[in-house]
Amino acid sequence: MRILIAEDDAVLVDGLSRSLRASGYAVDCVTSGRDADLALSTQSFDLLILDLGLPHMGGLEVLRRLRARENALPVMILTAADSVEQRVRGLDLGADDYLAKPFALSELEARVRALVRRSMGSGSSMIRCGSLCYDQVGRAATLNDHPVELSARELGLLEILLQRMGRLVSKDQIVEHLCEWGEEISANAIEVYMHRLRKKLDGGDVRIATVRGLGYCLERPPEQST
Ligand code: CA
Repeated sequence: MRILIAEDDAVLVDGLSRSLRASGYAVDCVTSGRDADLALSTQSFDLLILDLGLPHMGGLEVLRRLRARENALPVMILTAADSVEQRVRGLDLGADDYLAKPFALSELEARVRALVRRSMGSGSSMIRCGSLCYDQVGRAATLNDHPVELSARELGLLEILLQRMGRLVSKDQIVEHLCEWGEEISANAIEVYMHRLRKKLDGGDVRIATVRGLGYCLERPPEQST
């Protein structure tokens, strides 16, 4: 799960990114609207946290351009407490949620989880795949009702596969959603994480298929097929 933070307040960026990283998200940060626009038009994220008061292109313009590209990325806008008008304009331009500054990090995280959940089309925080259950709020998995111990990478990998259950996920997509800028992760490393994840899911009815040369697919158990 990869989040882009567009915010020019260094203290806030520091707090936000630390807290989101501690929760296992990959986090990239930009401090101007121009950089946000560039990142959003060239790369793929799972969520955007967007300050409206950004230098070199305001947040509303970043949002307008994003939606004009027909990009449905979930967007949470950050606004000053007294700017009802900006908030309304942001929501009208296609923001999914907003937080007025100052806010508690715990509230931001709860809203991030809710947005991600909604964008996956599931109102519930539990994703089920056969005997595998994944709690998106607690970020914990169980297999046959027993907890599965997963590293941060394995957890990230499992989330990517679960969000695209039944569909092919390429290694490039995995790298894109698992890594922050400046982080290097090789195709070999992905294979190693995948190998470990498979081993941990051994004993259930969940299968991660390898599509040679293309990627991976978490197969839906037969009774869940749509
Ligand atoms: Ca600002």
